[in-house]
Amino acid sequence: MDKALHLLIDGRLVAGAGEMPVINPATGKAFALAPRADAAQLDTAVAAARRAFPGWAALSYADRRAFLERFADGVEARFEEFARLMTMEQGKPLDQARFEVGGTIAGLRYFAAQEIVSHVIRDTAQERITEHHSPLGVVAAITPWNFPLILLVVKLAPALITGNVVIAKPAPTTPLTTLLLGEVAADILPGGVFQTLADANDLGALLSTHAGVAHVSFTGSTATGKKVLSSTVDTLKRFTLELGGNDAALVLDDADVNKVAPAIFGAAMVNAGQVCLAAKRVYAPRALYDDLCAALGALARAAVVGEGLDQGSQIGPVQNAAQFAKLVDYLAEARQQGQIVAGGAPLDREGYFIAPTIVRDLPDDARLVREEQFGPVLPVLAYDDLGAAIEAINASEYGLGGTIWTGNPERGEQVAALIDSGTVWVNRHLDLPFDVAFGGAKQSGIGRQQGVEGLLEFTQAKIINMAKG
Ligand code: ADP
Repeated sequence: MDKALHLLIDGRLVAGAGEMPVINPATGKAFALAPRADAAQLDTAVAAARRAFPGWAALSYADRRAFLERFADGVEARFEEFARLMTMEQGKPLDQARFEVGGTIAGLRYFAAQEIVSHVIRDTAQERITEHHSPLGVVAAITPWNFPLILLVVKLAPALITGNVVIAKPAPTTPLTTLLLGEVAADILPGGVFQTLADANDLGALLSTHAGVAHVSFTGSTATGKKVLSSTVDTLKRFTLELGGNDAALVLDDADVNKVAPAIFGAAMVNAGQVCLAAKRVYAPRALYDDLCAALGALARAAVVGEGLDQGSQIGPVQNAAQFAKLVDYLAEARQQGQIVAGGAPLDREGYFIAPTIVRDLPDDARLVREEQFGPVLPVLAYDDLGAAIEAINASEYGLGGTIWTGNPERGEQVAALIDSGTVWVNRHLDLPFDVAFGGAKQSGIGRQQGVEGLLEFTQAKIINMAKG
């Protein structure tokens, strides 16, 4: 069993009030112990954050930038350690873990270079009115288990550079990379500016109701997001909610099946389908339907499924036992209601492995079509009328992302305008540059991350209105 990492509270690396095992999803067995914080440690962290806030907020952007740059250097120096730990706790293939760690470093550096500048609204002989953006205070960054680092960094880095202080609470099944980030920060950032609290799913609600927390930045399921929203009410906290999705990949009748099938397969299967913005249902015109199903099926059969640390693995296990059980349920229903083109069952081995699965001929109201499966199981539906397909896509309560696949990008852009979601890609997927905001429509979220909007989320506008003379 690996040695336990520590919580970072008030500038010190400390043990938790308790400990909890961390499971490697490739084996289903515990491989490390993580500290488990309790409510008293949470209170200590919030108090420390509040003490640290005025000093951090008073620094110039340039001073905070220097800290964030050193933080990025610190992560870079332990790049491989981060990547291997992520594969161990999360399950993803090592090259995908490395990609995420690379994105984490790039995100720290990108946001370190940003600045929200004050601007003059009016400046006359009689008056000057200026608008400033002040930090909010203590930010609780609550994250899920699919991308433990990058989803934290798109909160952490914008919050810190704009002058806030941050308490990170990772998901209970993937605490280790967040704790390692805390260990790196311990030697670099002033005490209380960034803190880490690992829990067993019991501290999220305490953080999001805590009177000392000013903003809750949450990424997770829509059901939990609704709880977060209601828990911010008492103190009128600010919040950002990045929630679930049921993104459609819409194939137009001018698409080249051989070209789009691998792209759609990647969009659905990256991170074993555990991506809020993954392609979760495919709509294909009747004339291309058989060919597309066959091409996706061939890709599913050819994909190398295996332990993330094994060279060549393309799809790892799903992250935890609860998610595995949910997918096994979806598969049972899919076998009854549709036709399995490829996969269709868990692998006969230890760990939480599901064979990449393509399902066709499901009815529109099948759970696998309506709900967010969050796994390597993809339903493909045929349509006869594009308008009806768009209507079916928009009928979802979710509206996070989506993709259009076409031989004619301009036509794709026009169709994209009709999809009711926060991001629609045409002939590409998961392109999420840090200068572009993303977020959900409908029940996929409130607020935006990244881009200027993502920075502004961590500030409040403040007007200074001065009479001259
Ligand atoms: P899942 O259902 O897939 O486990 P969640 O959306 O429940 O995902 O979890 C996302 C994050 O929210 C995790 O860090 C989890 O511990 C945290 N969390 C769970 N319940 C609450 C809550 N009531 N308030 C705030 N955060 C919570």
